[in-house]
Amino acid sequence: MHAAQDPWIPTDERPTHTMELMEIWQTALALVKEQVAPQVFDMWLKPLRLGRERGDGRLEILAANDFSAVYIRDHYGNLLESALSTTAGRLCAIQFIVDPNPPEPAAATASPEPVARPSAPARSGVDGRYTFENFVVGSCNQFAHAAAARVADAPATAYNPLYIQGGVGLGKTHLLHAIGNALLRARPDGKTLYITSEKFMTQLVESLRFKQVHNFKENFRSVDVLLIDDIQFIAGKKATQEEFFHTFNALQEANKQIVLSSDSFPGEIEHLEERLRSRFSQGLVVDIHPPDLETRMAILKKKAAQEGMDLQDDVAFFLAEAIQTNVRELEGALIRVFLLASLEKEPVTMALVKESLRGTMRRNEPRQISMEKIIETVAAYYKIRPLDIRSDKRARRYSHPRQVAMFLCKQLTKYSYPDIAFEFGNRNHTTVLYAVDKIASQQQVDGDLEQVVTTLTAMLRK
Ligand code: ADP
Ligand code: MG
Repeated sequence: MHAAQDPWIPTDERPTHTMELMEIWQTALALVKEQVAPQVFDMWLKPLRLGRERGDGRLEILAANDFSAVYIRDHYGNLLESALSTTAGRLCAIQFIVDPNPPEPAAATASPEPVARPSAPARSGVDGRYTFENFVVGSCNQFAHAAAARVADAPATAYNPLYIQGGVGLGKTHLLHAIGNALLRARPDGKTLYITSEKFMTQLVESLRFKQVHNFKENFRSVDVLLIDDIQFIAGKKATQEEFFHTFNALQEANKQIVLSSDSFPGEIEHLEERLRSRFSQGLVVDIHPPDLETRMAILKKKAAQEGMDLQDDVAFFLAEAIQTNVRELEGALIRVFLLASLEKEPVTMALVKESLRGTMRRNEPRQISMEKIIETVAAYYKIRPLDIRSDKRARRYSHPRQVAMFLCKQLTKYSYPDIAFEFGNRNHTTVLYAVDKIASQQQVDGDLEQVVTTLTAMLRK
């Protein structure tokens, strides 16, 4: 089969490596995989990518964001280094950096690139991990679930297209794959295809480049069920919309099922051609809402059971209360809890859960805390005046609270080092850098300081 015709050949070219390096990386990852829990591997290590080899001989390892870069460095840096060194037969030092050129966003929910793709039926693009059986139904998603189940049961008879709308991390992709899995099971001979609209676009572009448009059209128009994820991304892409319009019509005329997902309703997608908008609304449009507390708890329980872990009600309740944004975040939090429990060889207790949440809460914090408020709070805590914090006084009873306050400004606000330096009596920003680093590392070893930082953070967030 030609590359342009096969939808599952990765289209984004990563930085080129000598085969040797890439092999070392993949072998090392396989080694690491044997040494950590599967959920740990999937969550943290599998998404890593190999970057370039630096001038100083260190290998750059690319992480999705700075939170993961730091987390993985601290928890798995040594493990990775020794796996790489063992594999390479020489000392391999690594440096974690944030991926400057991350894979297309949709890929983050499916299978990350570096290791072999999961054993899902490759041609269909359907990911075997997401099924109706492991989808928790609540009032937030019951209509979407019912419609999806109906489509899987009797494609192209009821709702066509089925359009699933919902915010990020609420289960749209999961439902699309669930339909796919149910169909693959019930009708192994039928042709079901799952694809993100971005992949649809890149494949179209490839097919144009390699003069394989005919194959491209053929591939998409010969399916029985087409599951297109994140359709909003075709907005503004003229050629893609044009091609998709024809695909859509061809499938409908042939009485084939189309299922679409999007973060917006058809009427809300800007720069979407009118004719597509009206077609998207022709069948059934269902939306998914953020899960309520009860559903969040049920999801946690289900995920825990899936991982073979025990989750007490109080812990599930606490997590479900703490994380209300979306299911992906909820899942991430649960995995971190299990991870911490396995690292510390401790049971999943409330204390452990609180500990593991500390890193995440920051990202869920919508409210902007002012630097002034931070300075006031820290000053009050240490029983000095805000003026003293902003001053040049060098005595430790001033300099230490000042450094704590700088650290908190960096942690709790979006201000840059120079901004913070300015607020603290117009200092040089390297002073702030130094302070932030110092407090960050000190609190790792100094339990009292850690407690102070936790308390102050909690006070500021109230
Ligand atoms: P979306 O595509 O809407 O951004 P996903 O389908 O990728 O969200 O869901 C994010 C994560 O949350 C996935 O791991 C998915 O399995 C899980 N998830 C979402 N909703 C549910 C649910 N109702 N029951 C179980 N897991 C869910
Ligand atoms: Mg999705």
